[in-house]
Amino acid sequence: MNTLKPIPIPAFADNYIWLAANEHGAMCVDPGDAVPVMAWLDEHRLPLQQIWLTHHHNDHIGGVADLKAAYPEVRVYGAANEIAEVTDPVAEGSRLAFGGHTAEVWAVPGHTAGHLAYLWHLPQGLQVFCGDTLFSAGCGRVFTGTPQQLFASLGRLAALPDDSLFYPAHEYTAANLRFAAHIDPDNADVIRAQADTHIPTLPVSLQHEKAVNPFLRTALPQVQARVAELASGGLAGEVEVFRAMRELKNHF
Ligand SMILES: [Zn+2]
Repeated sequence: MNTLKPIPIPAFADNYIWLAANEHGAMCVDPGDAVPVMAWLDEHRLPLQQIWLTHHHNDHIGGVADLKAAYPEVRVYGAANEIAEVTDPVAEGSRLAFGGHTAEVWAVPGHTAGHLAYLWHLPQGLQVFCGDTLFSAGCGRVFTGTPQQLFASLGRLAALPDDSLFYPAHEYTAANLRFAAHIDPDNADVIRAQADTHIPTLPVSLQHEKAVNPFLRTALPQVQARVAELASGGLAGEVEVFRAMRELKNHF
């Protein structure tokens, strides 16, 4: 309980609500549903102290009102212009802390225009709550942001230390690896990851993602050639390759 290691609370069909706790209380990220979070807190007799929100989609914030009613002291961090329940607005460059360890807030637009990531500096390494920006072997769909923004946000995340651990909000790994094998058929790391798939496959290290995630591999000539072949068109530059790959995934 003192390691603060985030654990997944499953919700809906494929959401994970990440939760971390010490002996004083707990925090959770993107509680789309209050029920499984309250069940965990009741079982461990701990109060909820903080909620960190990445973006406004209902499967990420749907439980916030009930959690605020149950834990009136809880601090809710997020983008106040998008989410009414936020008590402590944060944006690019904001800092907060849980368990005595600081988290930095990054703006990572693309999936939505106001999407945030939380980079939590634990002694064992950087823990990144990335919402619907990066999934294992994949990335989020473009809703209110742009492909260019999502490409830039993933590039920024990919420049973090290789041992950074990523905590996406969904378990889409098996389906994403099928698409990765379609784009990157000679990639032995993808074939190995498909054989290794276990549930849950999260969190994932950045080093692993750089090896298997086609959306982080758009600079590679074989990936560019394959996407151009599948998209049946010349693609000028990496952002175009990324946009075409995201489009192919939408219809895969
Ligand atoms: Zn979303």
